[in-house]
Amino acid sequence: MKGTVLYAPRDVRFEDRPDPRIEKPTDAIIRISATCVCGSDLWPYRGIQTLKQPVTMGHEYCGVVEEVGAAVKGVKRGQFVIGSFCVADNTCPNCRAGYQSGCLNLEFVNKAQAPFLRVPFADGMLVSTPDLPPDDMLPSLLAISDVLGTGWFAADAANVRPGSTVVVVGDGAVGLLGVLSAKLMGAERIIAMSRHEKRQKLAREFGATDIVTERGEEGVARIKEMTGGVGADSVLECVGSQESMAQAIHSTRPGGSIGYVGVPHGVALDGQRLFFAVVRLHGGPAPVRRYLPELIKLVWDGKINPGKVFDLVLPLDQVAEGYRAMDERRAIKTLLRP
Ligand SMILES: [Zn+2]
Repeated sequence: MKGTVLYAPRDVRFEDRPDPRIEKPTDAIIRISATCVCGSDLWPYRGIQTLKQPVTMGHEYCGVVEEVGAAVKGVKRGQFVIGSFCVADNTCPNCRAGYQSGCLNLEFVNKAQAPFLRVPFADGMLVSTPDLPPDDMLPSLLAISDVLGTGWFAADAANVRPGSTVVVVGDGAVGLLGVLSAKLMGAERIIAMSRHEKRQKLAREFGATDIVTERGEEGVARIKEMTGGVGADSVLECVGSQESMAQAIHSTRPGGSIGYVGVPHGVALDGQRLFFAVVRLHGGPAPVRRYLPELIKLVWDGKINPGKVFDLVLPLDQVAEGYRAMDERRAIKTLLRP
């Protein structure tokens, strides 16, 4: 088969790769129905995260089980399944506590921009849909695998409750689906921070009540002004830069919570400023596995349509263009079809 390999900044190749095969009895092989480019893939693509050697890419996936190892009981050949980007056994104490992204056997999926994928711990990782999905549901099912699961975790970690005032920092796909998640969790006011017209429109569609275009200290000042000088109950940090993290912390009211899911790059926190902000910080890689059954049901029942974040669909062999379009912010998120 062919798969996606990043050689150097902006050098994405779709090239011959070994066919994945069952290596352990707990593995499954799935035929990918749809995969995509993640905002976090742009960190190495842009050279902000440096590569020592070429790396295979892709960690968002859904598809049909092609083959299972002898020990796999939970899924079978022919089922449509969704998994998370974290490889987790779903049996260790951290998994049982709902933190599969802190699994004692944690690894990360990194070969999903390909037609086939080996999934370790298939019983723990994969959740099947009630039936084979219609084609037009694929984008929304794929979104669960990471962007929706991550946006959902951001809202959950930020303790969004019915009636909450929520700020979402970041207008990428995760931030937009953070808006959707906050809406579903009952937030009353959702302020999306975005300067991009198309993303503002989608944020509104997903439930944003206000849009703020200011950033940094001006952004914080604007949030304070809009919340009677107090700040928001819950802030979702979906970028991972020094500026966005500071903006999130200082937009939160004392006693409020920040759910941070942007992979931090160059973020350093000032202990004293954090101390006097009187806030809760909870984040990290999302334990998407915990949310899979609930999110699959919401999509399957037609309650949500998170697949709207995919505004570019390409055949998988044009994956390099998919990265370019996102890098240049021509696309919010690229869906790839093998
Ligand atoms: Zn585990």
